[in-house]
Amino acid sequence: MFALNHRFLILFMICMIYLLFSVMLVYKEDGILSAVAQSTFLLFWSYVGHVAAHYISLVYPINKMNTHISIHHSETELPRILDLGSESVNNFFGFFCLYLFQELSGYKFLNLKLILYSAFLYIGVHIFYYSLTNTNYHKIHHEYEFYNYSPEIFDFIFNTRKNDEQYENIFVFYEAFPALISYYIVKQIFENNKGIVELKK
Ligand SMILES: [Zn+2]
Ligand SMILES: [Zn+2]
Repeated sequence: MFALNHRFLILFMICMIYLLFSVMLVYKEDGILSAVAQSTFLLFWSYVGHVAAHYISLVYPINKMNTHISIHHSETELPRILDLGSESVNNFFGFFCLYLFQELSGYKFLNLKLILYSAFLYIGVHIFYYSLTNTNYHKIHHEYEFYNYSPEIFDFIFNTRKNDEQYENIFVFYEAFPALISYYIVKQIFENNKGIVELKK
């Protein structure tokens, strides 16, 4: 029990690191409270979008159309780089669809900077941590697709964490470094394209 509580605290700390970078990106234009609310929503979206992607793909032909299932979760002949590339494109649209929804509905509640940051962060953690280091936590998700969706803290909260497995300790650097990189990429994009600021929120 102590080990699990300790792990939960580390996961909570990682979330705080993610939130910190989000707040740094938008607090000047949106305020701190809104920045925290938006990024909490986007973190939750990372989890719930992944869960939804698996459940809607129980139905044909969505399972074939959704490359997260038909490529990333399947045995294919594709080289690893193409598998991770297609998965990254898929992940990107998983977040960018929120921007498209906002544009089409006129109902804007998320800053484009945070949508992009969350997309890059998700892609970064999946490639940098889960795939390159082949962590057991994510490996289990590929073996049992209805467990270990990540972020792990939501698996704890919503009871989708496979608890009867052995997991290596969390390497905080691998979880936090993609956040730093994503923060700088978004900052660069908006600094190089000041005109894009019109599109925000
Ligand atoms: Zn994966
Ligand atoms: Zn999956």
